[in-house]
Amino acid sequence: MVLILPLNIFLNMVWRPNKMQITEQDKTFMREAIRLADESVKNGGGPFGAVIVRDGEIVAGSANSVTRDNDPTAHAEVNTIRQACRKLGTFDLSDCVIYTSCEPCPMCLGAIYWAHISRIYYGNTKKDAADIDFADDFIYKELEQHKEARVVPAIPLLRNEALKTFRAWEQKQDKIEY
Ligand SMILES: [Zn+2]
Repeated sequence: MVLILPLNIFLNMVWRPNKMQITEQDKTFMREAIRLADESVKNGGGPFGAVIVRDGEIVAGSANSVTRDNDPTAHAEVNTIRQACRKLGTFDLSDCVIYTSCEPCPMCLGAIYWAHISRIYYGNTKKDAADIDFADDFIYKELEQHKEARVVPAIPLLRNEALKTFRAWEQKQDKIEY
């Protein structure tokens, strides 16, 4: 897989101190993420919300909908990324930032990187989530374990056969990289 570092992410790294300043607008966007989380709790869903912002405007916002949709991947951040990509007609959100009511779990953090979102603001920490029995912190700890020692072991199988697809991708001239 290719994880290209877009220019804005590179600049974000170089000018980090400047980017760490919190503005009143940042607080407004975070409060909207928290409002979506509150609303979700009232409606029987999980206590998480997120918004994605581009050029100072909210382009997408969603709560967690795991239990409503019977979808374990329907975390607030993933839902919001899907919504933003549909709305903007792109799989590349490098000109966007995300405000999430809780520090992203490893799945959402991965999704944020795959979407090339350039910055994350979070409210609750993964420790706060662990304190109310969500597995975020546990999954982060699993990542530090040896693959075969994890609760869900990962076992290598048929690599030589699977590699043929990668060779085909590598050689394809007109592929759409992401
Ligand atoms: Zn998540």
